[in-house]
Amino acid sequence: MRGDLAVVGGMITAVGDVPAEPGDVLVDVRGRWLVPGFVQPHIHLVQTLFRGLADDLALMDWLQSRIWPLERAHDIDSVYASARLGIHELLTGGTTALLDMATVSHTDAVFQAADEAGIRMWCGSAMMDRDNLAGLGTTTDVAMRTANDLADRWHRPEGLLRYAYAPRFVPSCSDELLTAVAKEARARGCLLHTHASENRDEVALVRQLTGRDNIHHLHEQGLSGADVVLAHCIHLSQSEMELLALTRTRVAHCPSSNQKLASGLCSVPELLSRGIHVSLAADGAPCNNRLDAFAEMRLAALLQSTRLGAGALPAPIVLRMATASGAEALGFPGGVLAVGKVADLVVLDPDTIWSGGDPASTVVYTMDSRSVRQTWVHGRKVAEDGKVLAWDNAETAALCHASLGRVRARAGL
Ligand SMILES: [Zn+2]
Repeated sequence: MRGDLAVVGGMITAVGDVPAEPGDVLVDVRGRWLVPGFVQPHIHLVQTLFRGLADDLALMDWLQSRIWPLERAHDIDSVYASARLGIHELLTGGTTALLDMATVSHTDAVFQAADEAGIRMWCGSAMMDRDNLAGLGTTTDVAMRTANDLADRWHRPEGLLRYAYAPRFVPSCSDELLTAVAKEARARGCLLHTHASENRDEVALVRQLTGRDNIHHLHEQGLSGADVVLAHCIHLSQSEMELLALTRTRVAHCPSSNQKLASGLCSVPELLSRGIHVSLAADGAPCNNRLDAFAEMRLAALLQSTRLGAGALPAPIVLRMATASGAEALGFPGGVLAVGKVADLVVLDPDTIWSGGDPASTVVYTMDSRSVRQTWVHGRKVAEDGKVLAWDNAETAALCHASLGRVRARAGL
């Protein structure tokens, strides 16, 4: 539709033909398209710096030989640089909200970068209290104390930043940790975020460690429900799907990551037809290697056409997964251009790549982040024409170059 959109206090207050009042600030985007900001409920900002350093590996190798040693080699400045690089890509590509899993330490730097840029973020330190070869784990007590201290500092329900408890995945987490996390997160009104059933070896390892399938084990420890976001959910039994539907647990589908790590094909149409809530995200830069919501939308649709036939996951449904469904998963009023929703907005230039088709089809199949002209979060313009307004692009690049040298030397990679 053509028309105006009024914003007061970061919220959309009118849509359609809205007469301007004296004192209103007018933003003229005639000839452009306005869409809700994309929401990505599964990102690892701390890994953005590792883009290109872990290609062509399957999940467990990818984690053990590259990602965990690199995460262990991070310092607080390299985490900040990595988060800044990732947020730059998200905001300039039209993503206005994310759910992030950091690493076991230095998570303050992720919140610091998000706070400066003005993106809407849920984030938690990755909790790992089982041994691993990279020596990245901690005791259960340290994992809980670190998370609780971060939640005390950064969980701000009235603002743009919130804490989300993030046990990494079942093979890294004791039962004691998972049950404590579920209890603590709910006491504080925080989301829960983990990975589940991404890879066949991981699924076999979970069975060996716990005697149960992944989703059943997580449910037994309290990690199921509308406040739980599970990334991936590719290899599921029928009873695990029933449990996800029954408990209204949220699934974050990450199609590029799943293909690059050769993890498998998520049965998205089957999950949706069972009433399971599915949204869309890019995962981390080293397993994608982009953080581009457009790339995830396009691939999500194409993969299901290959699996099940043309149009098995049509463009309007994919666009919803990348916007309103993401906002539902995170529990905020967003992802829709309607009165009462947050003014998280993206201005697209349809002339960058012309298509005569339906706008939803153009956004999903044709456009990419080069079509994004402006990004607004909570009624404030935060990015324009490839630049995050709070930062200097050259400074972000310089911070990353300096940090990467330190981290690679420490990791020996
Ligand atoms: Zn992930």
